Amino acid sequence: MKIILLGPPGAGKGTQAKLISEKYSIPHISTGDIFRKNISEKTQLGIKAKEYMDKGLLVPDELTIDLVNDRFTNDDCKNGFLLDGFPRTVKQAEALENFLKAKGEGIDTALLIEVPGSYILDRMTGRRVCPSCGASYHIKFNPPKVDGLCDLCGSAVVQRKDDSEETVKERIDVYEKQTQPLVDFYKQKNQLFVVDGTQLIDEVFKIISNHIEIEGNK
Ligand code: ADP
Ligand code: ADP
Ligand code: ZN
Repeated sequence: MKIILLGPPGAGKGTQAKLISEKYSIPHISTGDIFRKNISEKTQLGIKAKEYMDKGLLVPDELTIDLVNDRFTNDDCKNGFLLDGFPRTVKQAEALENFLKAKGEGIDTALLIEVPGSYILDRMTGRRVCPSCGASYHIKFNPPKVDGLCDLCGSAVVQRKDDSEETVKERIDVYEKQTQPLVDFYKQKNQLFVVDGTQLIDEVFKIISNHIEIEGNK
């Protein structure tokens, strides 16, 4: 399966991605996680990406598209992938489409996790993430089983620098201007599936799983 996750910051893409990737054994490709790894390793790419990420702006398309195309060459993508946080612009969506078309392939579905703007700030400012494995928690809505430690790998969870109130507001703005047009992009191709992201994490996952199984049997 080739799946794209769409939705505003805080919709629950990362949270659902971990669950989907585990249940269906497809690699979870998060461009945000790849950029953060490059930042912590102080690579050239990381140094460039950090300038944009700290401000809540998108990393330029060229850098991002090359990075994803390169990731696709990895063996684990043979049977599909789950994209979380990519594409984020029409240019990225077109690049993805062309990349797959050249191999006679296409995506199976674009899942839009929808939440109203009023939910976003609470979710983002209460978010804690695992710097080692990328798992996402929330101090109120989804706390780790052991206070402050990742359920999956035991590392200490941290607050992301770009989850401050000011940067989140910028990111919502960037989402509306640059990423929201993708909703129509995939709707026109009859590839869009919308799920109400205000429900409990398990409820959202049930609905997504159902949809994936229907798509998988087509
Ligand atoms: P995204 O990857 O879309 O930015 P995350 O998966 O990191 O979003 O989720 C953002 C925050 O909201 C995290 O703190 C996460 O624990 C929490 N969260 C995710 N899904 C839900 C949900 N259905 N209900 C309440 N909180 C949620
Ligand atoms: P979110 O919590 O909004 O799901 P991500 O971890 O996906 O955040 O992304 C964090 C930051 O990384 C973005 O604000 C942006 O600066 C950069 N980024 C991630 N994916 C992309 C992309 N596809 N195009 C451009 N920038 C990206
Ligand atoms: Zn972890």
